[in-house]
Amino acid sequence: MKAVRIHEFGGPEVLRYEDVPDPHLRKDQVLVRVKACAMNHLDLWVRKGLPGVKLPHILGSDIAGEIVEVGEYVSGLKTGQRVLLAPMHFCNRCAKCSAGLQNQCREFTVLGNAVDGGNCELIAVPAGSVIPIPDFLDFNQAASAPLVFLTAWHMLVGRAGIRPGQTVLVLGANSGVGIAGIQLAKFFQCTVITTAGDDRKMAKARELGADHVINHYQQKISEEVRKITNKEGVDTVLEHVGPATWDESLRSLKPGGVVVTCGATTGPQVGFDLRFLFSRQLSILGSYMGTMGELHEVLKHVFSGKLKPVVDRTFPLKEARAAHEYLEKSAMFGKIVLIP
Ligand SMILES: [Zn+2]
Repeated sequence: MKAVRIHEFGGPEVLRYEDVPDPHLRKDQVLVRVKACAMNHLDLWVRKGLPGVKLPHILGSDIAGEIVEVGEYVSGLKTGQRVLLAPMHFCNRCAKCSAGLQNQCREFTVLGNAVDGGNCELIAVPAGSVIPIPDFLDFNQAASAPLVFLTAWHMLVGRAGIRPGQTVLVLGANSGVGIAGIQLAKFFQCTVITTAGDDRKMAKARELGADHVINHYQQKISEEVRKITNKEGVDTVLEHVGPATWDESLRSLKPGGVVVTCGATTGPQVGFDLRFLFSRQLSILGSYMGTMGELHEVLKHVFSGKLKPVVDRTFPLKEARAAHEYLEKSAMFGKIVLIP
């Protein structure tokens, strides 16, 4: 089959479109023909080099496609079914996995991170990772849903525990997790404040349901939040940006507020004043992907049409390099999808 692999870490030039052996199907697995694979910032981090990635390596976490073969031990799935794949890998044997806390498993990793992903034509995965999709959802939309909606659900519902009537600040409306976070917070009847970098993205954020949109290049986030909330601040901040926004995120919280983070797009190191943290009784929560239970729960709302994946544009898989360059420019609003 064809695949995009990296043989060394580096810039977009290390992506190679090449022939690789077809995957071997185990009896407990399902073989899926990849029809769409959505990109995430993780693809850039893995390409640049992360510990635990064995070379050569196939990138890609968010996969939708069609079942082409079902292993002998698998029941309930059949050839020709349209499906998406859970964007993660875990042992399925340990105490955490047995308790349904797959994202705390010692073997837990994102598909396309420490294990090969979906920038290829065929992929073999455990039957439990295969989730049938409704007819109205095309492959590009289906591939754009799992990672970001799961991440946003675990952050806002699993970790921060948002409740109706609260105010949520979602950073980066144009990012995948931002788009999912805005929709989820509205779904839970929260007031949503978000940020975007230009008029086009600000308008699109409003279309998604955001109540207030701050231009993060022209306005100071915490000052605008104070104005919008009548000096109160927000209950929860959905963070994934890192040092560029961290101080503003903490300053935007009301006493007892929560900042929940799943990423470090602008770098790994941030600081804060302990006195500010304890006197205002703030909480800082880490969040990484989510559980299989949460994935099924959030996808139910995607499959009913209440939560909508947003596709920015597609690239043929063999033009993965151009797609990486496009993602690095952050000009998108929504997911970038590679098509094998
Ligand atoms: Zn496990």
